[in-house]
Amino acid sequence: AKAAGGCTYMAFEPRMQDDARDKHELLRDLRHAIENKQLELFYQPKIDARSGQVTAAEALLRWHHPVRGTLSPDVFIPLAERHGLIGALGNWVIDDACRQARVWRERGLKMRVAINLSVFQMRQNDLVERIQAALKRHGVNPSRLTCEITESVAMEDTQVTQRTFERLGQAGIHLSIDDFGTGYSSLSYLRRLPATELKIDRSFVMDLDTSDDAKAIVDAVLKLAHAIGLKVVAEGVETVQQRDILLQLGCDEFQGYLFARPMSARALLLWAVEDKPA
Ligand code: C2E
Ligand code: CA
Ligand code: CA
Ligand code: CA
Repeated sequence: AKAAGGCTYMAFEPRMQDDARDKHELLRDLRHAIENKQLELFYQPKIDARSGQVTAAEALLRWHHPVRGTLSPDVFIPLAERHGLIGALGNWVIDDACRQARVWRERGLKMRVAINLSVFQMRQNDLVERIQAALKRHGVNPSRLTCEITESVAMEDTQVTQRTFERLGQAGIHLSIDDFGTGYSSLSYLRRLPATELKIDRSFVMDLDTSDDAKAIVDAVLKLAHAIGLKVVAEGVETVQQRDILLQLGCDEFQGYLFARPMSARALLLWAVEDKPA
């Protein structure tokens, strides 16, 4: 047993060092990712359940790392948050998404653009001014922008985040509560937020065709959201069965691989204008 323990230790220790070195290198590279033009926003459409029209495109950050290939935000956003880089990253996202919204408008596409905001950004005092300046710089109407904020961040009842919420709403920007169902919302609190949209988390959508419980939860969320005037988007729709159940339950919009994966802005432009089967 002792020998085995020793082996385990030996195998584990170098890996921990590798991990630490890895993180360190990644962080060093991330500091230069913006100036080195390695970041790109991919876009995933939100689709109107009844008409099949694209209503919006959600910007999802990608990092084209010269050695490691394209990295997912789940890998580097937490790193950026921990090491004070999320401000710069977030500002880049705001500007680039607004620039893209302008391009789409010029091409005659009516969809909104949606961006994800981190908790750190919600605590920034100048966030709203920053967003307004980017909209103005690119000549985009605030009503063309949706800010997605996760339920857990939205429920942070600090005065600063609350105030940011109100000011975004007052500026005419749409607000969406992301990953709904994963946090612990107080319903009365939800009603006080100036949100216009609620996104049901993928974990519920995933189980829709196999679990009556998931279906009951989604049904309840839809009724609640509609009762307080929110539009509902289901995220992570992957199968026709899931889509049909959501449609039957009265879901307003879909997002997921069944319709389209996140893609480059260019690819989305082509995708949006091509004819799709009903
Ligand atoms: P999210 O906002 O919940 O975005 C949805 C995630 O689910 C995306 O992962 C998307 O690619 C993926 N997805 C969409 N449809 C499907 C589907 O049908 N099946 C499955 N299995 N997955 C699907 P992604 O792009 O890796 O982003 C992960 C998370 O990173 C996002 O979750 C968001 O919280 C965060 N993120 C992405 N871009 C930004 C950003 O610019 N700023 C901030 N603060 N966070 C971002
Ligand atoms: Ca989102
Ligand atoms: Ca989400
Ligand atoms: Ca999610």
